[in-house]
Amino acid sequence: MVAYLITLTVLLTGATVGKIVPLQQFPADSTAVAADTAQQTAEQVTDFSGQQRVEDLLRSRPQPEAFRGHLYELTRHPHRAGTARNREVRDYITEVSRQAGLEVAHYDYDVWLAEPGEVRVSIVSPDTLHLPLTERVVGIDPDTGHPELPHGWNAYSGSGEVTAEVVYANYGRREDFALLAEMGIDVRGKIVLARYGGNFRGFKAKYAEAAGASGLIIYTDPANGGYVNGPVYPDGIYSSASAIQRGSLLTLNYFGDPLTPFEAALPVETDSTVRRLHPDDVDFHTIPVTPIGYGAAEYIFTRMLGERLAPESWRGGFPFPYRLTGGRDLLVHLSVNQPQGLKPITNVVATVQGSEFPDEWIILGSHYDAWGFGTTDPNSGTAMLLTLTETLGEMVRAGYAPRRSIKIAHWDAEEYLMIGSTEWVEQLREELGAKAVAYINADMSVTGSRFGASASPSLKQAVIDASKAVMHPDTGGSLYESWHQNPDTAEPPIGNLGGGSDHVPLYMHAGIPSTSVGLYGSVPIYHTNYDTFWFYETHLDSTFRYGPALTAYYGILSTRLANAPIIPYDLGRYGSDLHHHLNTLNIRARELDRQTVPDDLFILADTLALLGRQAETELRQRTETLSPENIVCINRELIQLERTFLDEQGMPFGGWFRSVYASINPFDGYANWMLPGLRYTLEESGTREEFDTQAEVLRQAMLRLKNHLEKLPSGC
Ligand SMILES: [Zn+2]
Repeated sequence: MVAYLITLTVLLTGATVGKIVPLQQFPADSTAVAADTAQQTAEQVTDFSGQQRVEDLLRSRPQPEAFRGHLYELTRHPHRAGTARNREVRDYITEVSRQAGLEVAHYDYDVWLAEPGEVRVSIVSPDTLHLPLTERVVGIDPDTGHPELPHGWNAYSGSGEVTAEVVYANYGRREDFALLAEMGIDVRGKIVLARYGGNFRGFKAKYAEAAGASGLIIYTDPANGGYVNGPVYPDGIYSSASAIQRGSLLTLNYFGDPLTPFEAALPVETDSTVRRLHPDDVDFHTIPVTPIGYGAAEYIFTRMLGERLAPESWRGGFPFPYRLTGGRDLLVHLSVNQPQGLKPITNVVATVQGSEFPDEWIILGSHYDAWGFGTTDPNSGTAMLLTLTETLGEMVRAGYAPRRSIKIAHWDAEEYLMIGSTEWVEQLREELGAKAVAYINADMSVTGSRFGASASPSLKQAVIDASKAVMHPDTGGSLYESWHQNPDTAEPPIGNLGGGSDHVPLYMHAGIPSTSVGLYGSVPIYHTNYDTFWFYETHLDSTFRYGPALTAYYGILSTRLANAPIIPYDLGRYGSDLHHHLNTLNIRARELDRQTVPDDLFILADTLALLGRQAETELRQRTETLSPENIVCINRELIQLERTFLDEQGMPFGGWFRSVYASINPFDGYANWMLPGLRYTLEESGTREEFDTQAEVLRQAMLRLKNHLEKLPSGC
């Protein structure tokens, strides 16, 4: 350990003295080492200066030019999953990772993807007008004229055509359609016009179809990311009139390839045993759906003459009244012809082998497929991970090895609904169950100056502590200081994970402690053809400094997790967070006038908090006397803690969601639901038996966790 550090120091400082940022520019070491208690445990038994030296390198090596170069290369062409252009991106990632000296594996699958096909939207009465369905080419941004840019479309729309009257349905949420019904507005046979925002777009289609609509047009309202908020592209970051948000519409009760729930969609050629559903047996939407910009939407809105005005809260940013219906005279034609079929996709996973515990994995990941160029979504994250890959590679070449393995994953087809990551989790379910220590998700992670994170309980403290070790490029203070602005709170605002990216399968299906961390900004033009390199450089970060800062953060967090002899989970946090979530459930139960959570669960949560803290203290006291066998045994136990939340039956709204601790909100697709089994029975007015059943499922999971915590560390 010590020997390699000397070599490394000489090698690296000798080679590039000019590039190394002086250490005094960083926060005092006292902040960098103020890690959580388990971290301190680690430091007592190892050469602390070792990790400190690693962190110095991780802070000083990543450079803006490297990040900029990767971002530029990754986003030269639009690269949708399943296309040749995306395979070029795959090859670039592979090449960079190999050149850096990492072991690179490809994981191939054949999955059911949709293509843009043809879309037409026209007004056919009272006049005739074909509405624009692609972004305007803007001279200042040469990428916007790229010949391969697709028109606006939503993946997994039904194919078909319809000419019908129009109904406005606000965000197209369940409650919006309920209100329309209450107001006596008949949606059957109509084309629904709904604005983006408020839920995952697929649910707009689901609820429109359930209400009997024959088509759906989703538009970006001027109030929801358009001109009402500020200058629009190319002058600013907000959506211009022609900007169209693409995106998937899948709302199945499982994630990943639609044809292979619970099972990896291994390639047809190499594996004939995969059971694929017939597409007719998959619960796809059947009505045609397409997105449009507000420029196109305005043509429809200005022709709506229905008598009823929309409720106040349904009004967006157009300067005219919003009406619920278009009236008899306004007829819109919508046609979608969307080819779908099996397409090859590939995850690229690069590994730095652990020197002592190679079978304990710290996994970092981001998807690399995009709807267009994908500069912010997702490739700002990809470029950051590649910058880190090169930094780690350089350290490895100088003789460094983390104690645990660090895997850097580049997922394919996330945009279609976390397909690559889900298939990988389904393929490696057993292995991940035994080996995965943590997952850190970097999708869209370098889009602005605001540091933020969401995490599962056991990772929260490590995520917070690592933010003290990296300087914010704008402020001269640490990321932590920029993040923890409210002096009345004990810690910065760290959230709980919801939907929307690849942590969903790893966390909610496989029970791997997960976090999503980034330097974030607002990107209203995401999923449009304007998410270009020019846009990034002009409006988000002309100096490309946020990338290296986040690279340093990811490097420090992952090497701390990789190098601490005892995995630095925050063990007390399970109980305290559970207590908090039970409280939140009770508040919701009272709102709905429903039964509350049994008291014993609160007592159990408090017991878990106490046991967790005791286990940490005991581990800390015993660390120096632990044998290598003890350490292996303890870590094996620690890795299993989060898995105690997995329930084979899964959630009442879908067995694929196996975590009884966290899921996405199954009615909107994005927000998180904590203790989702109980939450679901509350929201769905389940019976007392159903509530008690879910309470018992949670109780059993908490008892399993209690059992594990009690065994720590004396059981080893
Ligand atoms: Zn993304």
